[in-house]
Amino acid sequence: MKTLLICEYRQGKLLDVSYELLAFAERLGADKAMLLIGDESQAPKFGGKVYLADAGKYGEYNPDAHKQIVLEAARREQADLIVFVHSSYGWDLAPQVAASLRCAQVSEIVGVVESKFEVAACNAKLRRIATPKTPQAALTIQAGAFGYRGEAQGTPQIERIEIPAGPARIEFVGYEAAEKKELDLAKADVIVSAGRGVGKKDNVTAIAALAKALGGELGATRPVVDAGWVEHSHQVGSTGQVVSPKLYVACGVSGAIHHLAGMKNSEFIVAINKDKDAPIGEVADVLVVADVMQLVPALTAKLAK
Ligand SMILES: Cc1cc2nc3c(=O)[nH]c(=O)nc-3n(C[C@H](O)[C@H](O)[C@H](O)COP(=O)(O)OP(=O)(O)OC[C@H]3O[C@@H](n4cnc5c(N)ncnc54)[C@H](O)[C@@H]3O)c2cc1C
Repeated sequence: MKTLLICEYRQGKLLDVSYELLAFAERLGADKAMLLIGDESQAPKFGGKVYLADAGKYGEYNPDAHKQIVLEAARREQADLIVFVHSSYGWDLAPQVAASLRCAQVSEIVGVVESKFEVAACNAKLRRIATPKTPQAALTIQAGAFGYRGEAQGTPQIERIEIPAGPARIEFVGYEAAEKKELDLAKADVIVSAGRGVGKKDNVTAIAALAKALGGELGATRPVVDAGWVEHSHQVGSTGQVVSPKLYVACGVSGAIHHLAGMKNSEFIVAINKDKDAPIGEVADVLVVADVMQLVPALTAKLAK
């Protein structure tokens, strides 16, 4: 099986998440080639074929041209699977590529089970297994799900792609920096996060007190933020902040892939969960099986002494 892995490139830089595509292809045991629409100086450290198209010529964001380039690379590579990151870039292009190839598209893959694709469903409460019924398929993978652990290395064999540049139907105006967050969790050494398991808004105070006692900041999962218990600036995860503190304490957090994407690179992870089989246990250095609202106030009181 052959994969064509589409690198992520923004504002003149290759994004590290591109290497997760390699980890995904490795899980499949598939052959790998990459495509970068960017600058040669940013070519991935990958000792295989890298198709390169010049972003200076085609633009960083130009779905019309990029689709043609992806199709050309897929044709040359005879790729069975064309794999994007599940980002705004991948969301745009994967369906367009699938439509052009009249092939299946599977979005937001979080795992591989016997060469089939595991996909988050119902706000990641369920997983479904999907398998394309067409010989080719366009895929998007969830960032953080395949975490590339190895040090990237290797010198790419570059093969250039040029296409006739047609008129673009979208004009790329530019990037606008997101509003500055009043809380920069990324700088915190200690984060104590509240998950839905804390039960109710009033209980968040106890989690915040533990964060304070440890000299850290309060984090939260998305349901806690959606319920209005905590401000969005505290959300950790794929649609919140990505953090890697020295200590991350997850209180009543199940460990859904979207949350893990934001914190699994923390140096030391303590999880407090009443379910000994909660998925957070897979990344936690210590899993305390307890009722969070019994343990946390007692712990805070002990620390205060
Ligand atoms: C596109 C998309 C983006 C998303 N982005 C994010 C994101 O950025 N960040 C994020 O967090 N989520 C995100 N999500 C949601 C994510 O998929 C999960 O639904 C969410 O992380 C689950 O939050 P939770 O762990 O607080 O709740 P649950 O999954 O409901 O887990 C609660 C946990 O608490 C435990 N528990 C219950 N009671 C107690 C108790 N008394 N004591 C101890 N433990 C207890 C339970 O055993 C359970 O493990 C996103 C989802 C989608 C679809």
